[in-house]
Amino acid sequence: MSHTAPPTTAPRAVPRQVAPRFVPAPTPPHDLDVGLPAAVDLLRGRRVAVLTGAGISTDSGIPDYRGPDSPPRRPMTYQQFVSDPAFRRTYWARNHVGWRHVHRTRPNAGHDAVVRMEARGAVVGVITQNVDRLHTLAGSRSVIDLHGTYAAIVCLDCGDRTTRDALARRLEALNPGFAEAVGSVADVEIAPDADAVVESTEGFRVADCERCGGMLKPDIVYFGESVPRERVERAYALVDSADALLVAGSSLAVMSGLRFVRHVARSGRPVVIVNRGATRADVEATLRVHAGTSQALPALAERLTD
Ligand SMILES: [Zn+2]
Repeated sequence: MSHTAPPTTAPRAVPRQVAPRFVPAPTPPHDLDVGLPAAVDLLRGRRVAVLTGAGISTDSGIPDYRGPDSPPRRPMTYQQFVSDPAFRRTYWARNHVGWRHVHRTRPNAGHDAVVRMEARGAVVGVITQNVDRLHTLAGSRSVIDLHGTYAAIVCLDCGDRTTRDALARRLEALNPGFAEAVGSVADVEIAPDADAVVESTEGFRVADCERCGGMLKPDIVYFGESVPRERVERAYALVDSADALLVAGSSLAVMSGLRFVRHVARSGRPVVIVNRGATRADVEATLRVHAGTSQALPALAERLTD
């Protein structure tokens, strides 16, 4: 009896073979000349939910670090923040300088156009991935700050919430003259989450929770964190109260926003994307318009509310 079995070795784990999903290549996006009338055709007479990202705030002076022309920037993770005191010190030192810049920014023509569309009943509400509060400042009534806001601070231990304003006064008292010294050296580079690039953060003193001494964090959803469930459900409820979804100024790089696009597309309702550059939902979109939001949204508002 011949023995042809292979030599006995421990079975090796073989990665499960997964058939690649067929993904058709998206057609190129339209420019505004062609895209605007097409968008009006799709959205007119429908109740529209709006999903916005960093691209809508660039004309307010807040950089889009995922935009096509942006330098690569490694975002902070939640794990880094909670596990490394030196990292946290650097974070707060930069934020102490950067948040004032974000605090001074004003809404632009894109934010204002969303307000007009809401006031005339064309838009049912906004879900934003931005933490800059510019939609609220512009006057939008129904706004879901999906990733939180730079203007609120939360204690990770007791859950106490305070304003960034109140924290600024405490940080200033702990670090007199720090922000002014940095600000006068050079124009600081500001990130969308109010982080500024600061050369030296040594000696910066971090503030702890006034109630319990616990760890304070901006009420922003960082990489490695998930959006609170209740907020996700409110966002789904908003898109489900709409007949169409308009994405403005987002490359939809993170799932927290992308899932709403997929949800609406799967239901057969139109999805219109206005963005400079490619997005992760290009194949799912009904229409893509390659344009800046400060041009496209006022033009759209004019035609949807006349
Ligand atoms: Zn606390």
